[in-house]
Amino acid sequence: MFDVLKIREEFPILDRKVNDKPLVYLDNGASSQKPKAVIEAVKNCYENEYSNVHRGLHFLSNLATEKFEAVRGKAMSFLGASDHDEIIFTSGSTEALNLVSYAWANQNLKAGDEIILSTLEHHANIVPWHFLRSRKGIKLVWIDPSESGQISLNMIEEKISSRTKMVCITHMSNVFGSIIDVKKICNELKKRNIVSVLDGSQAVVHLEVDVESIGCDFYTFTGHKLFGPTGTGILYVNRKRIAEMEPFIGGGEMIRDVSKDNVTYNKSPFLFEAGTPGIAEIIGLGAAIDFVQSLDRNSVLEYEKLITNYARTELEKLDWLVKHSFHKDNLAIFSFSMEGSAHAHDIATILDANGVAVRSGHHCAQPLMNFIGVPATCRASLAFYNTREEIDTLIESLRKCKKLFG
Ligand SMILES: *Cc1c(COP(=O)(O)O)cnc(C)c1O
Repeated sequence: MFDVLKIREEFPILDRKVNDKPLVYLDNGASSQKPKAVIEAVKNCYENEYSNVHRGLHFLSNLATEKFEAVRGKAMSFLGASDHDEIIFTSGSTEALNLVSYAWANQNLKAGDEIILSTLEHHANIVPWHFLRSRKGIKLVWIDPSESGQISLNMIEEKISSRTKMVCITHMSNVFGSIIDVKKICNELKKRNIVSVLDGSQAVVHLEVDVESIGCDFYTFTGHKLFGPTGTGILYVNRKRIAEMEPFIGGGEMIRDVSKDNVTYNKSPFLFEAGTPGIAEIIGLGAAIDFVQSLDRNSVLEYEKLITNYARTELEKLDWLVKHSFHKDNLAIFSFSMEGSAHAHDIATILDANGVAVRSGHHCAQPLMNFIGVPATCRASLAFYNTREEIDTLIESLRKCKKLFG
């Protein structure tokens, strides 16, 4: 069975106090805390193994390159990819989705072509497509989620036309915690020759992901939400798409030869990794992947479902709380607000005084906020290190809020 107290010992920050109260960290959807193994890996890199990668012939450069490139292999097996060329290091999901937009879509789509997006998307999976809309006259076609926060294959099929070239959707909503059946969707898209782009920023934290069984063309996640350092991310590109891509950012590392009037290019993944990467950070991401992989992911998920159910049951008892798309199949993420009286920021401020960290705002999902008809929500997002007692503190603090704001 999963031992939450033992796991907590791996995360030093969870021991600290905030406003004289024990920290209750429920903002994992925005960024998660780091285990000792990750902190140690970054420190060890700078203390013992640091140099620039891929260039030097000296000892440290070779060592750093070896450690850095080993992370590509870890990410490859973490996602179930089968080739190193398919794993591109990015600074996060935002850069990864922009990369897909510039490096693939910009070359392969033309005016009048359609991209299907869901209203659940994070701005990172919206704005790069807006760029294409204004630069190239691509049409964006939107799907609104169901009441439980779902996007189904049927909903997508209803929007597919002869001009549909891509579907860009999240694997798990960062606002509702709803999990989308992307395997069913991508397998159908593949038959229709429509390219799929999946935003796995939230999903990889909770679910085992196998990009080949899902059958997607692009899949991205961001390291800092997976207990790794900031400034790191992974873009998986199905090798069939690599040949259709052009470079995005130009500079060192992505070239083979440069002259005054010509450039020849390196191959993927280096073609898409111009400039010096976050070396220690990527090595830290490798430690985060190892950490997650060292856990029994089934029992972690069982535990997460347990505390999710507990949190949902307790939140549902607060009948004055407005609950946005609470559904029994949604995982780890709860969005709520209070009718009229208190703004989401007021709630977050009161909770913070009790040591409870939640996020309030639009969660980089303004189209979704418009769709549910609020400017902002409060979001409590759980990780495997959260406990029932912490949920109790959240509930108690929300009751205090209700007393204060009436
Ligand atoms: C956090 C998040 C992103 C953006 O990640 P960055 O690390 O800010 O690049 C994109 N999509 C979803 C669903 C997210 O939760």
